[in-house]
Amino acid sequence: LTVKQLSEARRALDEPLFADLAGDVDVSFEFFPPKTDRMGETLWSSIRTLEPLSPRFVSVTYGAGGTTRERTHATVRRIVEETGLDAAAHLTCVGASRAELETILRDYWDAGVRHIVALRGDPQGQGERYASHPDGYSSAADLVAGIAAVRPFEISVAAYPETHPEAHSAKTDLDNLRRKLDAGATRAITQFFFSADTFFRFRDAAAAAGIDAEIVPGILPVSNVAQTRKFAHMCGAQIPPWMDRLFEGLDDNPAARQLVAATVTAELCRKLYAGGAREFHFYTLNRAELSYAICHLLGIRPRLGEQKRAA
Ligand code: FAD
Repeated sequence: LTVKQLSEARRALDEPLFADLAGDVDVSFEFFPPKTDRMGETLWSSIRTLEPLSPRFVSVTYGAGGTTRERTHATVRRIVEETGLDAAAHLTCVGASRAELETILRDYWDAGVRHIVALRGDPQGQGERYASHPDGYSSAADLVAGIAAVRPFEISVAAYPETHPEAHSAKTDLDNLRRKLDAGATRAITQFFFSADTFFRFRDAAAAAGIDAEIVPGILPVSNVAQTRKFAHMCGAQIPPWMDRLFEGLDDNPAARQLVAATVTAELCRKLYAGGAREFHFYTLNRAELSYAICHLLGIRPRLGEQKRAA
């Protein structure tokens, strides 16, 4: 290495390292509704583990085609009733009329839910194109406007740093994000991605398009690349080749896979922090360990007895 290269390498070390992180970070955690009692136990143990980290909110997804409707509602309600956490319910337009969605929203409001993650959703069958219910909403932007007309919910929406697969272009996708924010959403949560530069480019493009709402990076702590690849393909996220190489040969070594996953995800979060991100949304897949470890590295510590709503 030349002296110049060594000196540049030294400068790279001046980026904030974990030891310097001030704990000035907010996080949220996403869960999916459990299908079985056993899965329910895993979910609730994860919620209890992550709860002391005082997330800004926790959210519960809504299955493709609205398939988890009842389970989503039950999980969200239980979080509201049994924890001090702010719960956000994901809601999609799929297969539901405006009147049905209005009833769901009123029920949520009456149950104490104040935050909706508003999505168009995807059809249940793979490869099918989205078709709206005859009396329903055709896009997330329409749903946002509908929600805002029912009750004054806080509304978050989805954003796609690598562009939504159905979008005509990155520009039209960004125009769509703006429509969702103009319709009443106040926060965009991104699809997962694995390169910090991808996020920064998207954030810059959003800023250049006049979007000034919070854009929260969605973080997927990957420990199963094969499974993630299947999912990434459907939602337009790229799995970089280096990620395959990192997990090579670890199929039968889950402990090593977890350590590699923690390292890769922590490094992504550190870069995002260095680039100014102070809020992170974790796709937990209902497991607490990786998200907890990364939050710890980001300087977040349990605030026992200080849960937001306990006061
Ligand atoms: P929209 O914002 O409506 O966009 C859909 C597509 O249509 C985009 O390509 C957009 O550019 C285009 N579009 C919309 N309006 C226009 C217009 N007027 N002109 C031109 N183009 C337009 N799915 C679930 O089923 N359940 C969940 O719980 C769930 N949670 C999610 C959480 C997050 C944080 C994210 C990022 C995604 C989630 N999804 C979920 C996936 C989501 O439903 C799909 O990605 C879906 O295909 C698009 O939803 P959307 O809300 O982004 O749709």
